[in-house]
Amino acid sequence: MTAPTSIIISATAAGDPLPMTSPLGCVVVPVTPFAQNASILWCTETMRGAVIDPGGDIDRLLDAAKANGVTIEKILLTHGHLDHAGGAADLVDAIGVPIEGPQPEDAFLLDSLAEQGARFGLAGCRPCRPNRWLKDGEQVTIGTQSLDVLHCPGHTPGHVVFSHPATRFAIVGDTLFRGSIGRTDLPGGDTATLLRAIVAKLWPLGDDVAFIPGHGPGSTIGEERRGNPFVGDEALKRAAR
Ligand SMILES: [Zn+2]
Repeated sequence: MTAPTSIIISATAAGDPLPMTSPLGCVVVPVTPFAQNASILWCTETMRGAVIDPGGDIDRLLDAAKANGVTIEKILLTHGHLDHAGGAADLVDAIGVPIEGPQPEDAFLLDSLAEQGARFGLAGCRPCRPNRWLKDGEQVTIGTQSLDVLHCPGHTPGHVVFSHPATRFAIVGDTLFRGSIGRTDLPGGDTATLLRAIVAKLWPLGDDVAFIPGHGPGSTIGEERRGNPFVGDEALKRAAR
């Protein structure tokens, strides 16, 4: 997932071409020096879509939407870190769409985006506030499609994940990565909380569910349960001994 635009992510298995019949389309556009996987996810029936986690590089996100014939109708945020939310205010200014998510526990991060940017050397990060805070168990819509909202704290306290059970697909932000988990040493982070959230919220999605993480290549829930050295089944068994 390192090419700049127009990578079609399968809704059924990471890396395969999107089935023509899929109700969802997705491109991943790595943004900011952190190569954060901003995603454009759209409803193929209406061609209306959401930008998920616009950390920056707004022009590239808008180009990718245009190249795929997608009209952006909203911004979804998984959590309040600069590389995920730092460009949201600029995108609102550019196209006037509402922001949904994360949970209110991340308000302190959204309020401090300018300070986060200064600390990590990322110019132009501006604070933002969602038009709608999300809560575990709610749904967000993209065109005619609905995604489930799952609260997965631990990387940040208000982190949410977006799941689309019908296509066996999820966008998990910085909770779970291929072979790793989100860092927990930033304000509001907690390792035990993150491990509990992954096991309680992500594992039940099903082994066949493909996911896009906030950084790096995609994976499936099953692959991570089998081999993830931090939260895989074997790793947790060892930790419990
Ligand atoms: Zn993060």
